[in-house]
Amino acid sequence: AKNRGRGRCVEFDQGMDVRAQEHARLAADLSAAVERNELALVYQPIVTLPHGELAGVEALVRWTHPVRGFVSPAEFIPVAERTGLIVQLGAWVLYEACTQGAAWLKELGPAAPGRISVNVSARQLIEPDFPTVVEAALLASGLPAERLTVEITETAVFDGGPALAAVTAMRELGVKVALDDFGTGHSSLGLLRTCPIDVLKVDKSFVDGVGQSPEQEAIITSLSQIGTSMRLLVVAEGVETAAQAERLHEIGYRYAQGYHFARPLKPADIADYATATAGV
Ligand code: C2E
Ligand code: CA
Ligand code: CA
Ligand code: CA
Repeated sequence: AKNRGRGRCVEFDQGMDVRAQEHARLAADLSAAVERNELALVYQPIVTLPHGELAGVEALVRWTHPVRGFVSPAEFIPVAERTGLIVQLGAWVLYEACTQGAAWLKELGPAAPGRISVNVSARQLIEPDFPTVVEAALLASGLPAERLTVEITETAVFDGGPALAAVTAMRELGVKVALDDFGTGHSSLGLLRTCPIDVLKVDKSFVDGVGQSPEQEAIITSLSQIGTSMRLLVVAEGVETAAQAERLHEIGYRYAQGYHFARPLKPADIADYATATAGV
């Protein structure tokens, strides 16, 4: 039994080794990806209910690896966070998204997406020069500050301190702050008291409960009421069906995002969505 135990242990160690090597390779490839132009942004519409008029877009990063093909951000963002590469990668995302936002303003005028949302990870947010990076992206692109929203998660601001200071700095620049995946963290309601934000993004896991049971609907209704009474914009994330969209509207939601309205799209397709839904 002892021997077998040791054998299993060796196997386990080798497994860890392979995984560690795999992560190291992914990390190395990722650091070259920016220079090699392998990263691109897609944009998912954030729309008004009930008609799906374009209110804004969320920028989502995509990586096409020369050999692996499509790599999901759910896979490489955590690697980028661990290695610290997220700081560079995140700066690129900010600049790229602001540049696209300014281009839409020129091209589409009043039909342009009102807001560009950019995901910012905890590691990036607490870098001392984060506000400077944001300001530089706005200046270089010419995007007005009030057209930019940074999306942060509860866990990022949970520790307070530097993250909270960064949130305050955003608002001083005139940049909006959204709390992403709201309700999934450990201190959702507590944070609303201490962290000055503009937008609540109610996580898909709650949206999935719409039409499921009175209890689940009670939660999603309360989240909207809390946000609205605090004068926040409340966005329902991951809306996949017409029935969900209709019920969310009845419950009081004014903004939504999800496959029912649009998947993440290439910039040219956002222009089409904008003109197709303008004034509906
Ligand atoms: P997130 O910020 O919560 O973004 C929403 C995710 O849900 C996106 O996945 C989006 O494509 C997906 N989604 C949207 N509508 C629906 C729907 O109706 N049904 C379902 N099942 N999914 C939907 P994506 O693009 O794979 O991104 C995954 C996560 O990776 C993001 O979650 C975000 O945490 C992270 N991420 C993506 N881009 C960036 C980035 O530029 N910087 C950072 N720091 N994180 C990023
Ligand atoms: Ca997000
Ligand atoms: Ca989210
Ligand atoms: Ca998420």
